[in-house]
Amino acid sequence: MLDSTLQATYDQVLRRNPGEPEFHQAVREVFESLEAIQNLHPEYQDHSILMRLCEPERQIIFRVPWVDDQGTVQINRGYRVEYNSALGPYKGGLRFHPSVNVGIVKFLGFEQIFKNSLTGLPIGGGKGGSDFDPHGRSDGEVMRFCQSFMTELHRHMGEYTDVPAGDIGVGAREIGYLFGQYKRLTNRYEAGVLTGKGLDWGGSLVRKEATGYGAAIFADEMLKARGSSVDGRRVAVSGSGNVALYAIEKVAQLGGIPVTASDSSGYVVDENGIDLALLQQIKEVERGRIHEYAERRGSGARFVKGGSVWDVPADIALPGATQNELDLEAARTLVKNGVLAISEGANMPCTPEAVSVFRAADIPFGPGKAANAGGVATSALEMQQNASRDAWSFEHTEQRLTEIMKGIHARCLETAEEVGRPGDYVVGANVAGFRKVADAMIAFGVI
Ligand code: NDP
Repeated sequence: MLDSTLQATYDQVLRRNPGEPEFHQAVREVFESLEAIQNLHPEYQDHSILMRLCEPERQIIFRVPWVDDQGTVQINRGYRVEYNSALGPYKGGLRFHPSVNVGIVKFLGFEQIFKNSLTGLPIGGGKGGSDFDPHGRSDGEVMRFCQSFMTELHRHMGEYTDVPAGDIGVGAREIGYLFGQYKRLTNRYEAGVLTGKGLDWGGSLVRKEATGYGAAIFADEMLKARGSSVDGRRVAVSGSGNVALYAIEKVAQLGGIPVTASDSSGYVVDENGIDLALLQQIKEVERGRIHEYAERRGSGARFVKGGSVWDVPADIALPGATQNELDLEAARTLVKNGVLAISEGANMPCTPEAVSVFRAADIPFGPGKAANAGGVATSALEMQQNASRDAWSFEHTEQRLTEIMKGIHARCLETAEEVGRPGDYVVGANVAGFRKVADAMIAFGVI
């Protein structure tokens, strides 16, 4: 049970947003952390900051009609939730997946407010997407869908207004079609309006790698704070998309051994360490399925259909697929197998019950809004490069990313310590992220 003031606000959130369990889960987690500062800051209550924070500034829902390869008209639903612009233009990805609905977009947008605040960069929070499923669609179909999606979305965007990026189902191909249509509709080469762009047309080096790299760096920082590191450790990674691939790469660079990858059909275990080039070929180039990895890799690698990747013994868990993919049972298995740290590459991949298990066992747990903030941080670096018509080297950009991740880690630890919850990265991330946004909202008055 929450403290009575927080509970009253939370009840109001439940009443105003029925049928949105992921959104409720994300709000509740933040509220639980804010109990640590509730008595210290009556001004937040005086200004109704929490209720205002939970209500998006703007929610856009639109029809996306397009024609498939058979000439049939298809209808999808598009979303953009412009959540909070206290610290900068709305910033957050677009997700194309059949599970997308307004509650999912709101949970992601709400998380994004605090994550973006934690980066220390001038970006507000937003998120969007569609229930369109790019799996199995031709390039032509994906292009026509993206063009139709952008035909509506473009009027809400702008480098000082709202700057989308990729997320599940939205990678370089989709960003290309989206940017092309934006440019055509507006007659403006406004590079800073979308991030995750191709390197030849305004993209930033390291953006593709940033989320996965950042999550691995965060795991390393958590272990270093306890006198250890990723070096020599077995790491279980879930997913095989943008986040997972580059988490695997950075883990290996840090001396760790990434032993798993997965998709929605199952997972692979490779005792010799995942062969990144092969996995990239199958997943990024051929858009194939994960079982092909085990077939082509040969001895030492096996495919497990369905099942839980968290059954594989590992020192570090790096969930990089989707929300609520690591539940109570999985957490208990990981702890039984001696896991040393969990770093969330995905957004909210661990259920609240799983997080409680890690906390009870005193295992460092890096929540997504801190551990996966490297992606959006590098998007903000892409915006900086676009604004100055510049292109930074890989080394410089990676160095900035590493500094930002170390800074976020330190801020979480310091804040947790300050509010009497030492070592609790969830409380540290939520309180540090929240305070900046709340203070800016108070400064702006009631708007
Ligand atoms: P991708 O689309 O590149 O990859 C997603 C991966 O997760 C795929 O392997 C996919 O398998 C798997 N997956 C997706 N949904 C499910 C599901 N319901 N059950 C099982 N597996 C699933 O997405 P990203 O790598 O970009 O995103 C992964 C996570 O990281 C998301 O939570 C996203 O919000 C978060 N994130 C991403 C950032 C980025 O920069 N891209 C930034 C910060 C967070 P399949 O192909 O079979 O569906």
